[in-house]
Amino acid sequence: MKLLEDLAAREAAATDRSGHRPDTLPDGVVRATCVDDVVETLRWASAHRTPVVPRGAGTGLAAGASARAGEVVLDLSGLDRIVQLRPDDQVAVVEPGVLTADLDAAAGEHGLFYAPDPASAAISTVGGNIATNAGGLRCAKYGVTRESVLGLDLVLADGRRLSTGRQTVKGVAGYDLTSLVVGSEGTLAVVVGATLRLRPRPAETATLAAHFDDVVAAAAAASAITSARLQPSVLELVDAVTLEAVDAARGSSLRSRGAAVLVVQCDGRGAVADTAAVGEVVAPFATSWSSTTDPAEAEELLAARRAGLPALEATGDVFIEDVSVPRSKLAEAVSGVQAISARTGVRIATIAHAGDGNLHPIVVVERGATVTEGPPWEAACAVFDLALSLGGTLTGEHGVGLLKRTWLRAELGQDSLDLQRGLKAVFDPLGILNPGKAI
Ligand SMILES: Cc1cc2nc3c(=O)[nH]c(=O)nc-3n(C[C@H](O)[C@H](O)[C@H](O)COP(=O)(O)OP(=O)(O)OC[C@H]3O[C@@H](n4cnc5c(N)ncnc54)[C@H](O)[C@@H]3O)c2cc1C
Repeated sequence: MKLLEDLAAREAAATDRSGHRPDTLPDGVVRATCVDDVVETLRWASAHRTPVVPRGAGTGLAAGASARAGEVVLDLSGLDRIVQLRPDDQVAVVEPGVLTADLDAAAGEHGLFYAPDPASAAISTVGGNIATNAGGLRCAKYGVTRESVLGLDLVLADGRRLSTGRQTVKGVAGYDLTSLVVGSEGTLAVVVGATLRLRPRPAETATLAAHFDDVVAAAAAASAITSARLQPSVLELVDAVTLEAVDAARGSSLRSRGAAVLVVQCDGRGAVADTAAVGEVVAPFATSWSSTTDPAEAEELLAARRAGLPALEATGDVFIEDVSVPRSKLAEAVSGVQAISARTGVRIATIAHAGDGNLHPIVVVERGATVTEGPPWEAACAVFDLALSLGGTLTGEHGVGLLKRTWLRAELGQDSLDLQRGLKAVFDPLGILNPGKAI
C-alpha cells in the first residue's frame, strides 16, 4: 500500500471526467495493491472518522469519485488481476481494477464475451462499472452491468469483509445484496472482487449505418425499430454537432452524409436477416442506409460513435447529461433538447444509446467556462425537467454522484430517499464511505 500526500497525486485524484472542479484537494491518496490494504484503510478511516472516496480509473461523469479536503481517496486501480476465467461455467472472477475491455478480450480467447461495454471500456475499471451500474453499447440487448454480476467481494466501512451473491447463474437465497451494491457509487461498500457472467460470442454480426436529414427523424426511426419487435445488440444515435466534432477529430466526412446517424448492430445466427429487417424499418425515415458484415468496417462505425465524447471534449468543456426516457418517447426527447438549446442559446450535442432510450445531451461551453451555473446549468436543468415530464429518469447509467443529487427528490420522492438513507446508515453507520454522493 502506498499513501501519497504530494500535490500531484492529490490533484490527479481530486475529480473525474464530469467537468466538476472541487475547490479543495483531498488530504491523501491510498494506492491499494491487495485486499488487506483496503481493510487497513477502512479500519483506520473508521477509527479517525475520515471519509474515504473509492476510485477506479476516474472516468466517471457525475463527480462520484471527486474528493475534497478532509477526505482520503482509495485508489483501487492497482488491484487489477483476472483471478479466474472458467469457460465451462462462463464465469470470470476479477479484481476491481481490471479494465473492462481487457476482461472482454480475455474472455474472447475462449469464445466468450463480457457484455457490459461502456464507450469507456478501454479506460474504465470493472469496479467503477459495478459501482455505477454502467451501461454501454451492447446493453440494448444484454442489459446493464447489474445483469452480468453474480457475486461480489466487499470490504465494509468498518473493515469487515463480506461476500455476496453466488457462483451460479441462478440463486435467490436472502435479500439481493449484490444488486443493492451494484450502482451504489461507493457509498455502501468497497468492491474488491467480482464474480461475473460471461456469454458465448455471437456466431455472426451485421452492422448498419443509416443517415438522416435531422436528428428527430433518426430518433423516430430508433423507436420504430423497437416497436417492430427487433432487438439489435447495438442501437446508437449521433447528432450533427457530434458528427462535426468527430469529423474534425478523425478526418472523416460523416456530417456531409446527413445531420444524424444511427449505428445498428444485430448479432446471433439471424444477424444478417435481422439487419435487413432493420433496414426496411428505417428506410422511410432515412436519406440512405447500408449494412456490412465486414468486422473492420463495423469496428470503424462503432469507433466513430465511441469517439463522440472525446471529440466534443476537444472543442470545449462539457457537461454530459444522461437522461433516459421510455423508448417510444425518444423523438419527443430529442426535439425537446433542440428546443432547450435554441431557447437558452447553449450548445448541446446529443449522443444516445437509442436502443435503451438513454440520451446523452452534452452541454459544450468555452474552455474554462463553468458548466454548473448560469445558462449552461439552466439548460441542463431544463433537460432534467424534460426527462422527468416524459416519464424518464435523471440518469440511465452514469449515476447521481455529486452533480445530480439536488434533483434526486424530484424523481424518487421523499419517502424513497429517506428509506435509501436508512439503508446507507445500516451499511455505513459513521457515514465515512463517499459521503455526499449518490443519495
Ligand atoms: C469517453 C467516455 C465514455 C463513457 N461512456 C460510458 C458509457 O457508454 N456508459 C456508461 O455507463 N458510462 C460511460 N462513461 C462514464 C464512466 O466511464 C463510467 O461511469 C465508469 O463506470 C466509471 O468507471 P471508473 O473505473 O472510471 O470509476 P470512477 O470514475 O473512478 O468511479 C466512479 C464511481 O464508482 C465508485 N467506485 C469506483 N471503484 C469502486 C470500487 N472498487 N468499489 C466501490 N466504489 C467504487 C467511485 O467512488 C465513484 O462513485 C464514459 C466516460 C467517458 C470518459
